[in-house]
Amino acid sequence: MSDIPYKIYLDENDLPTEWYNVRADMKNKPAPLLNPGTGQPLTAEEMGGIFCEELVAQELDDDTAYIPIPAEIREYYKTYRPSPLVRAYNLEKRLGTPAKIYYKFEGNNTSGSHKLNSAIAQAYYAKKQGLKGVTTETGAGQWGTALSMACAYFDLDCKVYMVKVSYEQKPFRREVMRTYGASVTPSPSMETEVGRKILAEHPGTTGSLGCAISEAVEVAVTNPGYRYVLGSVLNQVLLHQSVVGLETKTACDKFGIVPDVIIGCAGGGSNLGGLIAPFMGEKLRGERDYRIVAVEPASCPSFTRGKFAFDFCDTGKICPLAKMYTLGSGFIPSPNHAGGLRFHGMSPILSQLYHDGLMEAVAVEQTAVFQAAEEFARAEGILPAPESSHAIKVAMDEAMRCKETGEEKTILFGLTGTGYFDLVAYQSFNDGTMTDSIPTDEDLEKSFATLPVVPGT
Ligand SMILES: *Cc1c(COP(=O)(O)O)cnc(C)c1O
Repeated sequence: MSDIPYKIYLDENDLPTEWYNVRADMKNKPAPLLNPGTGQPLTAEEMGGIFCEELVAQELDDDTAYIPIPAEIREYYKTYRPSPLVRAYNLEKRLGTPAKIYYKFEGNNTSGSHKLNSAIAQAYYAKKQGLKGVTTETGAGQWGTALSMACAYFDLDCKVYMVKVSYEQKPFRREVMRTYGASVTPSPSMETEVGRKILAEHPGTTGSLGCAISEAVEVAVTNPGYRYVLGSVLNQVLLHQSVVGLETKTACDKFGIVPDVIIGCAGGGSNLGGLIAPFMGEKLRGERDYRIVAVEPASCPSFTRGKFAFDFCDTGKICPLAKMYTLGSGFIPSPNHAGGLRFHGMSPILSQLYHDGLMEAVAVEQTAVFQAAEEFARAEGILPAPESSHAIKVAMDEAMRCKETGEEKTILFGLTGTGYFDLVAYQSFNDGTMTDSIPTDEDLEKSFATLPVVPGT
């Protein structure tokens, strides 16, 4: 057996003191957010009406490679970080693969995912600015939970708009958020102008992240002392999530581990963007090469079937335009898709990196994902979130290819969270009633038709 421990736990002193901003090393920067009215890049002043001041500065900063993590945020990070890098010895044995598999486990906090890394940063900057509270959307519920925890810590009001289908499927998520003091409203709701409009046009809709974003933004801009915060997609969120990659890199360096391939699930791109950040930095600077793979659901295939274009981040078309791989803001994944990762777009940073050929993407079907989740749970003991299981699936496929070829590749993937609130989905998998839904080309053409025409792009 190798001398690498089952779990590599870093010391508190190894917790990064700075986030790493991969944009600083990108030759082709991600496109700026545009004002949908004028087609011009959003100014800091315009953004300040929606987002907190310091977060606007981080959003716009394409040049500073290292940004200090404020002491208050590091103190909170210490309550659940550094997170372990685990050598999946048991999974390797179960698969009979010569590959070495590692995963960075972000499920060791009550919110159950990596999202707390950005929630605590965003709540901190809102508090520092003297705001009363923040509004947000949540899909599966992990982001809403993470933000509720962060707002409780800094004594901020937290209003969460939760995609209706999740609100109904996951009542216990809602109760966790309420326990931390947040208010939770199913979206679309009758509370907002945009919610009423969406309901009038699509009565009985089960909602989407795009709808919930529109509602949360409307509430933020119409209530003094409130700003909107988002748990993925934005540059600032990928910046905060770099803490995941930086810790991983430190652990790898300590034990001489060099991944051949790095795999992560991709919804809006924040965990993957964070995990790969320092590795991508090396790749961009020409120091070392890695294969990097984004995994998305076949039911919401932004990278593999989307268009690289400016699009709205929300269904109500009130948000700025981002240049990203997108299925169109009108895209709503089939309600029988249970695995999360249901946003129509993708982080502009990852979109640019993918467009430039610096990373790959693959789409997988949900029954295969749950199959992998089950094997993983039986081998490693952790009950994985369905989102994370997309990465597990592709990591296992890679390990099985190594079994055929005899290659001893080193595979690293992000295990973003736990699946305790996803048991309705596990139930349908265990009962054999889970199905796969893949949008047809016609479905996609319909939602591509919702892409805005932007002058000069
Ligand atoms: C939100 C979430 C994701 C997907 O979001 P990204 O921004 O793409 O990282 C993945 N896994 C878990 C557990 C999540 O909660």
